[in-house]
Amino acid sequence: MRFLGNGRSEVTEIEKPNLQEGMILVQVMSSAFCGSENKAYFSDSINLVAGVKGHEAAGIVIDEQNTQFHIGDHVVIQIMDGCGQCYFCKKGLYQFCSSLKYKSGTHAQYIVLPEKCVVAAPKDIPFDILVLLGGDTVGVAYRAVKQIDVLERKTVFVSGGGPIGLGVTTLLHYLGCTVLVSEPSAYRRDYLIKHAGAAKVLDPKNEYWKEQILDLTEGIGPEFVFECSGNPEAQIQALELVRCQGTVVFCGENYNGLSIIPSVHIIHKEVTVKGAFYFSPEDFLQIIQLYRKGLDVSSLVSHIVPLDQAPRMMEQFTQGRTGKVIIHPQE
Ligand SMILES: [Zn+2]
Ligand SMILES: [Zn+2]
Repeated sequence: MRFLGNGRSEVTEIEKPNLQEGMILVQVMSSAFCGSENKAYFSDSINLVAGVKGHEAAGIVIDEQNTQFHIGDHVVIQIMDGCGQCYFCKKGLYQFCSSLKYKSGTHAQYIVLPEKCVVAAPKDIPFDILVLLGGDTVGVAYRAVKQIDVLERKTVFVSGGGPIGLGVTTLLHYLGCTVLVSEPSAYRRDYLIKHAGAAKVLDPKNEYWKEQILDLTEGIGPEFVFECSGNPEAQIQALELVRCQGTVVFCGENYNGLSIIPSVHIIHKEVTVKGAFYFSPEDFLQIIQLYRKGLDVSSLVSHIVPLDQAPRMMEQFTQGRTGKVIIHPQE
């Protein structure tokens, strides 16, 4: 599947990638759409549009050259391609590598990857679950939730119910939290209640939604806020809504800047601001343990389609009218 720019995409045939030393050829079984693909999808810049997209996937090793993997191994894709040598890479925290590159290209039948971009996965877990556990949906959500030590049974606020907010809500609900969410899309509001365990979902277009959040949090605002939308207005509101001495975890991306007034938003409220970026192979192992203990993420998927229907689904996905969408490139 290739993006054509300006909100269009197509399925086309390209050459099967070649294998080189230290590389692995993966047959992609499940590949999921990610909200971060929207930028390239709607772009008119050839640089941004070029190449096969997709960075959340699970599949089977069908060939390898001098790696620790074997043909038939089940794997998930780890898109952070760090140098492998620096302080952070040695700890498996590739996302902090100063010469980091991102791999993509999972919306295809095959992908060739260096060994460090592939993580072994248990064979008894279905690919459609693995793509969630080892992809951004649960991975990024897990790392965001992990920023707070004790969350059990608290009332928390999730700002934005897109793919990441959906994962964060599901995890927080699993941990026994009462989860309040703000989300402008009616489809997603409904989905968050039915499938992610949200206690209450508010429409930020409603002028009283902030009052409603205060009413639900003893009049002083939530102690913990997870900002998953990346929307500048929502990011400011997260800092405004959090209670004094509370914590805001930012995981929604914003490259355009934000007008924070430190005295108002942070100092006088003694707010703790945290970031959470991607996740590590170690996080994936901990997520597998949560899954074994009963974390159910299957309801986060609203659509599973063969590759030829992917362009139509991408359209629907970018309009906020789906949950998580999975492509089966082999069908
Ligand atoms: Zn992503
Ligand atoms: Zn590095």
